[in-house]
Amino acid sequence: MAVRALARVNLGAIERNTARLAAAAPRSALCAVVKADAYGHGMIPVARAALAGGAAQLAVVSAGEAAALRAAGIDAPVLLLGPLSDEELPIALAARAEITVWRASTVAQVAALGGGRVHVKLDTGMGRLGTRDPDEARRVAAAAAAADGVELVGLMTHFATADDRDDPFFDVQLERFLDWAEPLRAEYPNVLLHAANSAALLRAPRAQLDMVRPGVAIYGLDPFDVDPAAEGLEPALELVSYVAEVKPCAPGESAGYGRQFIAQRPTTLATVPIGYGDGWRRGLTNNAEVLIEGLRRPLVGTVSMDSITVDLGAGASVSIGAEVVLLGRRGGERILTEDVAQRLGTINYEVTCGLTARVPREYGEGAAA
Ligand SMILES: *Cc1c(COP(=O)(O)O)cnc(C)c1O
Repeated sequence: MAVRALARVNLGAIERNTARLAAAAPRSALCAVVKADAYGHGMIPVARAALAGGAAQLAVVSAGEAAALRAAGIDAPVLLLGPLSDEELPIALAARAEITVWRASTVAQVAALGGGRVHVKLDTGMGRLGTRDPDEARRVAAAAAAADGVELVGLMTHFATADDRDDPFFDVQLERFLDWAEPLRAEYPNVLLHAANSAALLRAPRAQLDMVRPGVAIYGLDPFDVDPAAEGLEPALELVSYVAEVKPCAPGESAGYGRQFIAQRPTTLATVPIGYGDGWRRGLTNNAEVLIEGLRRPLVGTVSMDSITVDLGAGASVSIGAEVVLLGRRGGERILTEDVAQRLGTINYEVTCGLTARVPREYGEGAAA
């Protein structure tokens, strides 16, 4: 390998996942969420693949992300989900991003800066962005509709518990949203109602409305954090490294900082050049598996910044240079991002977002899995 560790991103999978989600929400426009460098997959190639798969528009969180899409020549509508500082707002508008607003003062700022397209956000229970007060949100929508150069494009909210199929708060939020947005639609017939992230899109067709905003599912990650195959999704990212060193390990000998692994019997250890400096987190110490020559092997010892050690078993004859799969499938075996997330006590989103810039992303068009 030309690099220590590599994330291979299958753009064909991104395209197919997008098409699968679009088919699951046939009456809704699809807005592909590509924030945070497309959840670590690489924003620009992913954005193009999602558009090829049927996304009508893209969503990001920062003005810088919107500007980067434009700089790459991507012309599709871009929805900006985040709050914008006074410094960011003109950058976002210059990138022709559609802005999320919930204060009349922001609408006035947009108008003063020459206008733009806005979506009004009601906080139905997430407790982050948006106003909790439906009357205020109604006034902001009216201000947007009336302001010179400002176009009221959407009415939106965001679910706090869409990924928990049993949580009744999802329905509470949907009802609060529709109670607010449906009457406004009567007033502003062209406005788009949107609320659904990946989990909501998949679990509740009634929440799909005029537009859906899937992120995680585009990447073939399961929004319910179990198994993407259950939702017809294909993981797009594979993480590989290689065996940099192989050495015998006698009983009583150890590997790694703090001697967190001490061999109980004769075995063979492989050193693999990926560590928490690459985003392979230290919480995986003695707590992960990799695939080498199609076999599952345990990560043993402490995850270092730059390397891990893997127990190959006694008498193993693995060559230096052999491929090590940290996320992905080989033969009948697979290691899901969801499995790694569970070991870390986190969610799949954080695992791919956490892969650092030291891991190059390589793009291909793998065949359907
Ligand atoms: C990140 C985000 C999404 C996408 O959520 P997923 O769970 O990744 O599908 C949708 N809407 C908003 C407002 C978001 O911040």
